[in-house]
Amino acid sequence: MPPDDLIVTSGLGHRYGAGTEQEVTALEGVDLRIAQGEFVAVIGPNGSGKSTLARHLNALLLPTEGRVTVNGLDTRDPDHHWSIRQTVGMVFQNPDNQIVATVVEEDVAFGPENLAVPPEEIRRRVDEALALVRMQDYARHAPHLLSGGQKQRVAIAGALAMRPACLVLDEATAMLDPRGRREVLQTVRRLNRDEGLTVVLITHFMEEAALADRVVVLDRGHLVMDGRPEEVFSEVDFLEGIGLGVPQIVGVRRLLEEAGHPIPPSVLTLEAMVDFLCP
Ligand code: ADP
Repeated sequence: MPPDDLIVTSGLGHRYGAGTEQEVTALEGVDLRIAQGEFVAVIGPNGSGKSTLARHLNALLLPTEGRVTVNGLDTRDPDHHWSIRQTVGMVFQNPDNQIVATVVEEDVAFGPENLAVPPEEIRRRVDEALALVRMQDYARHAPHLLSGGQKQRVAIAGALAMRPACLVLDEATAMLDPRGRREVLQTVRRLNRDEGLTVVLITHFMEEAALADRVVVLDRGHLVMDGRPEEVFSEVDFLEGIGLGVPQIVGVRRLLEEAGHPIPPSVLTLEAMVDFLCP
C-alpha cells in the first residue's frame, strides 16, 4: 500500500439485514482509495449507498463483503475502532442532533474529554478548533441560539478537537440555508488547503461536488465514476441517465460555447466563471 493512502476500500459490499427476507444490497464491489490530503466528493442518486459508504470510513458499519482499511488498520478488527474513529471524524446532516452541551466550548471539549486528554491540552485543542472554524468569538455562547451554519461549524470543531486526519461530512449542508452552506463549504475547503485535512464530502449538491479535487459517483451501490470534477461533469448524458444533474454553470458554459465563446471545462463554479470572463 502506498504510504499516502489513508483509506482503502477493497471489494466493499454491504448488505443490510443479510440473510433475512428484508435483505438490501447497499454497496457492492466498491474499490476506492483516498490519499492523505485529498478532497473527495461522493455523489449519487438517493439510495445509491452514499451514507452507507460514509459509515464504513470510520467503522460505524462493517463490511459484509470485502474490506476497509484506515491508515492500514482493518475496520473489522474491534481493537482498531478506537484508533480509526480518532483518525476519521464524522459530521452528519442534522446539526441539532450532534450538539450535546449547553455552551459551545464545552461541546467542542466533549470528544477530547472522553479520550481523557489532560485539561490544559483540552483547552488548547478547543481554542484551536474554534479558531479553525472561525467560531472563537462564540466560545461561551449557547449552541441552540446559533444559526444552522454556525452549529455545523461547531460540530466540525468538535470533530477537529479529536485531531483527525480526515473529516467525513455526510450531507452536512443539506439542512442549511445558502449562507450556512457557503460557510461550511468555505470552512472545509480552507481546512483541506491550509491544514492538509483529508475531506470526504457526501453531497447531493453538484455545485459543492465541483469544489472537490475529485468526484466519486455511486449508482445503486456501485462506484460508477471516479475522476476530476471537470471530467465527471463533462459526462452530462451519463449523469442525467442515472438521475443526477450537473452544476448549473455547466449549462451556462454550453450556451456560451454554442454562442462561440469557448470556456475551459475546469470552470465549474460561478466564481471561476467570473474570474475567467473578467480576468
Ligand atoms: P444514500 O445515502 O445514497 O441515499 P444509503 O446508503 O442511505 O443511500 O442507502 C442505500 C440503500 O440501503 C437504500 O436502498 C436504503 O434504503 C438502504 N438502507 C439504508 N440504511 C438502511 C438500514 N438501516 N436498513 C435497511 N436498509 C437500509
